[in-house]
Amino acid sequence: MYQTGRAWIELNIDNLAYNVKQFQQLIYPSCKIMPAIKANAYGHGADLIGKSLQDMGIQDFCVATVDEAIELRKAGITGQILILGYTSPYRFSDLSHYCLTQTVVDRLYAKQLNDYGQPLYVHIGIDTGMHRLGERSDNHADIGNIWKFNNLRITGVFSHLCVSDDTSDTGRQFTLKQIAEFNSVIDSLHKQGINGFKTHIQGSYGVLNYPSLNYDYARLGIALYGVLSSPYDKTVSSINLKPVLSLKARIQCVKPLHTGESIGYGLTYTAEKEMKIAAVAIGYADGIPRELSNKGYALVNGEKVPIIGRICMDQLLIDVSNLSLVSSGDEVVFIGKSRDKEILASEFANHANTISNEILSRLGNRLERIIVKNKMED
Ligand SMILES: *Cc1c(COP(=O)(O)O)cnc(C)c1O
Repeated sequence: MYQTGRAWIELNIDNLAYNVKQFQQLIYPSCKIMPAIKANAYGHGADLIGKSLQDMGIQDFCVATVDEAIELRKAGITGQILILGYTSPYRFSDLSHYCLTQTVVDRLYAKQLNDYGQPLYVHIGIDTGMHRLGERSDNHADIGNIWKFNNLRITGVFSHLCVSDDTSDTGRQFTLKQIAEFNSVIDSLHKQGINGFKTHIQGSYGVLNYPSLNYDYARLGIALYGVLSSPYDKTVSSINLKPVLSLKARIQCVKPLHTGESIGYGLTYTAEKEMKIAAVAIGYADGIPRELSNKGYALVNGEKVPIIGRICMDQLLIDVSNLSLVSSGDEVVFIGKSRDKEILASEFANHANTISNEILSRLGNRLERIIVKNKMED
């Protein structure tokens, strides 16, 4: 029993270290892992995860927003922090003050950054086909011209893959085209006499499905947390990953439900037999999708139990009729292990018609985040 609260996240940092090692063995020794710890480290807790990774020797990180970057600086992250999204010119002083690295989202933005008038560290985003952020990869001359902005300290050039999880022929063809576009930008820069910048294009699936690419960084998010997006994902390299996060809550009370009685908001579930139900102290405000009403399941004392009725903001109900020994205070596992059974984040997400990335990144602030150790047999 690790803690006493209502609903919480357990973080297994040994598993995080294990995943880091697995990836370090998969990528080239010259390629560094740049963990994506945006959205509170995919719900895991950015400070804890960032500091733990830094203790493991990881120096460079990427996040989505300037405020996420500042939070990491304040938590003691000393290396490069790359902001992957747009930062308003009103916040350029923060980039400078906290020594952050900003993505150049296009050449107009490069000028705005330069006009700030003081040196700023940047990586240049290149759009190779996703058509989200980045200067278009066919504008070789405009990309090269960004180096003429004297205030920009350009330390990297990167792109992003949008179908690297798709291992079908069409998916692979598109990804290889993106990679070729990116390489041609790099070649063109070298031909213009521009050197001395780092390159990166792979996220988790970029590494898992294209492990032979050799760039300076791999921006690993979801897979570093030991999780795949969907339980159906098949990857080219089948490295063993261990989930870092478990999601648990406590049973508040157990009571009988008689035949014909209905439960919860909207009375959406009716007992067809004599039942035993339990109220659990976790709800949609904590990140359990309301979509899982009358649909999801959890684990209690190693047994699978259905979620019944509508999920509330702070609570939900489960059917514990099949459990002989169950009482208030017992642990309910939504993601993670309970005795010999396990629910993967990807399975939990799949029930809710989404991917684990969304489920994890939306886990609420009310959840306590605590670090657990592996037992000897793990
Ligand atoms: C979130 C993000 C990543 C990490 O992606 P995963 O698939 O979770 O590994 C990498 N690069 C960019 C630009 C991102 O936005």
